[in-house]
Amino acid sequence: METRRRAIDSNLIQTLSSLGCRILKDEPLSEHCSFKIGGPVDFFVEIPNEQALLIFLNNVKNKKNVYFILGSGTNVLFPDEGYRGTIISLTGTFREISVFNEEILSGSGALMSDVLNTAIKNNLTGLECTAGIPGTVGGAVFGNAGSKNKWIGSFVKNVEVYKNLKKESINKEKIAFSYRKSGLGNCIITSVSFFLKKDIENDNLEMICESMKKRLRTQPLIMPSAGSIFKNLDGCSVGELIEKLGLKGIRAGGAQISEVHGNFIVNTGGASAKDVVSLIKLVKAKVKEEFNINLETEIRIIK
Ligand SMILES: Cc1cc2nc3c(=O)[nH]c(=O)nc-3n(C[C@H](O)[C@H](O)[C@H](O)COP(=O)(O)OP(=O)(O)OC[C@H]3O[C@@H](n4cnc5c(N)ncnc54)[C@H](O)[C@@H]3O)c2cc1C
Repeated sequence: METRRRAIDSNLIQTLSSLGCRILKDEPLSEHCSFKIGGPVDFFVEIPNEQALLIFLNNVKNKKNVYFILGSGTNVLFPDEGYRGTIISLTGTFREISVFNEEILSGSGALMSDVLNTAIKNNLTGLECTAGIPGTVGGAVFGNAGSKNKWIGSFVKNVEVYKNLKKESINKEKIAFSYRKSGLGNCIITSVSFFLKKDIENDNLEMICESMKKRLRTQPLIMPSAGSIFKNLDGCSVGELIEKLGLKGIRAGGAQISEVHGNFIVNTGGASAKDVVSLIKLVKAKVKEEFNINLETEIRIIK
């Protein structure tokens, strides 16, 4: 833990600041995630360009697990004690989006909703399955975000990453996209190109409206959460299993299994990570006991 805390020293802070990074000390992580849970991180560093990113990575290269890359924090649970180390967030040039015919090139720090808007404006279809999913391009591609049957990986052409300090361009064929998995662990995704199709009629707008209406009806969007807590199972909705067990509405401290959607845990105010984890454990145990199913969490629980 102490090594993690010391991984960033005053020289590095000075260099990164001179390259436009914003560095926040003891920043509450509850401010950087949709759950609104999490203690302070030693350093929260917003990195606006590749030069600064490379300098940061070079400085931490021999230190294991000293940093964590965050998108918008909509799929994570941070610990109450906070994070001893550095959390990096890609901003500035990493948020740029450009269009070349049927291709959209996006920095990994851009919001998925901005990419989808760009696609709609340019009559490009494909990314409708991401409508209503909060978060960045990096987070979406890392976790292969999408709906039950359609996911973002199907529309990725190429991903640029830093892996072991080397910049690599990885074609879609080499990325093992599967349900909520990309196989891009240990990589910093810097940009993504999406290959889409022209749709002059803009038929996708209706599809997006329907999907947004369904979300408003079926998800507790007015409460802080991290989306679905558990990965769905083949042909079976985990939300429905939880509902069958009568667990909707159950509370632990300030956390509650949503009354609207069984696969969501919501922060009703002042929930701690421990509260959320205890509900996760309860659901896992009950589902195992009643249905002999081992649930896998979809959210990343950060230690
Ligand atoms: C109300 C609500 C509804 C949701 N609905 C859906 C849904 O329908 N479908 C779905 O799939 N998800 C859904 N989610 C979950 C979440 O929005 C997605 O997983 C989203 O893609 C996460 O993006 P993020 O930028 O917030 O990632 P974060 O939560 O910040 O990070 C998630 C993971 O991605 C990694 N990561 C982020 N950026 C990078 C990068 N540049 N390089 C490498 N790794 C990176 C992080 O290290 C972390 O491991 C929902 C969440 C909420 C709150």
